[in-house]
Formats: sequence, structure tokens, C-alpha cells
Amino acid sequence: GTLEEMDAELVQCRACPRLVAWREQVAREKRASYRGEEYWGRPVPGFGPDDASLLIVGLAPAAHGGNRTGRMFTGDRSGDVLYEAMYEAGLASQPVATHRGDGLELFGTRITAPVHCAPPANKPTVVERDTCRHWLEQELDLLAPTLRAVVVLGGFGWQSLLPVLSASGWTVPTPRPKFGHGAHAVLQPAAPSRRPLHLFGCYHVSQQNTFTGRLTREMVTDVLRDAARAAGL
Ligand code: SF4
Repeated sequence: GTLEEMDAELVQCRACPRLVAWREQVAREKRASYRGEEYWGRPVPGFGPDDASLLIVGLAPAAHGGNRTGRMFTGDRSGDVLYEAMYEAGLASQPVATHRGDGLELFGTRITAPVHCAPPANKPTVVERDTCRHWLEQELDLLAPTLRAVVVLGGFGWQSLLPVLSASGWTVPTPRPKFGHGAHAVLQPAAPSRRPLHLFGCYHVSQQNTFTGRLTREMVTDVLRDAARAAGL
């Protein structure tokens, strides 16, 4: 299959009852406050080219961001910071992301999440994360021929991704690399079809981090620049 085919299947997924109920409830209730706009209310697929060499892994779509617009990190404050930093690092065609069809293009970079539906309070359960895991495995498998680096936003994404990488043909060093802002590890291939993969940690671009100054846009741009270099971009 292709990533496009996978995404077409993904947006139909209803495997997590709590998340299906929440994403649809938010869409029903909020549609009125975004008059004239479609409110997505479905699983949000990865965004970016299918031959990306850099993958950015977040947590899950935001109720009024990705869940509203249908595109990762689009239409919320977290996305404002991320796309501005991506633009500064030369990975995006413009610094703003408002809706699908706003002309934004990503260069050699794809954005995805270990959980594809918006969870209440931005907190997916362990069961929901594990239920969604096969989508991430499939996405990594499809990207593997070109993939050279991954930037993980936040500890949840880091903890979710490591086991998936180790099941998907890369060797995760022991002891397991610890998440932190600026963390960097190189995973060696465990399968002939894989190449070494650079893994970078970056604090999540959530308002909780950016409003408190724990994370600045410059800090995000710096990690993205390092990752872009490692990915050959
Ligand atoms: Fe399906 Fe993932 Fe959404 Fe669960 S979170 S319903 S597995 S797309």
C-alpha cells in the first residue's frame, strides 16, 4: 500500500470508543462557533510528503486544532509555534497554518502522532495509545526507505515511539535513551531495509510549555535545524 491509501483508511477508524465519542461531541458542539467552516471531528492523518526524511512525532490532535481542521497542529497555539519554527528551519513554505488548503507545504518532513484522535484533556489512555500503535508502525514502515531522523515532541511521544521503533527494525540502545529537550540518540538498523535513524527530543510545543517560557520558539528551531542536518535536508 501507499501512505495515501493508509490515510484514507485511517480517517475511517473507530477503534477507540471514548475518543470517537469525544471527537464527535466536540465537533457537534463547536461547529456553531466556527460558522461556515467544516469541523473535522475524525482521526487526523499525518501531514507531509510520503518520501519525508524527517518525521515529527507529537502526542495527539488538539480538540479545537487538528480535530477541527483535519490537519496536524493546524489552527491552534501549539501549531503556531511549531510551524513558525519549521519555517525558520527551512522545513515549511510559510510560518502559518490555518486550515487545509491554506497553501502550506512541508519540505522533506512529515508530522504525525502516536494517537490520531483528540483525547479529553489531551490525555489518551495507555489502551488508546496501544490501539493506535499499528497506524504508527505502518507509517514508519512506509517512510522507512527515506527516513533519517525523528523529532519527538514531549515525553509521551518518546515513550510511545521507542517500542514501535524497536518492533519496526531499529535497535534501541540499552539503557533506553531518556527523553529531554535536546536529547539525541542514533538507532542502528536491525533489519536490512533500515538505515541508521537519528532521534531528537524536544519539549512539546503546548501552551503549558510556551506560555511559561520553559520552551521558546528558538529552542524548537534549534532542534529542528539539528534534525534537518541529520536528515540531509
Ligand atoms: Fe483509531 Fe487511533 Fe483514533 Fe483510536 S485513536 S479511533 S486507533 S485513529
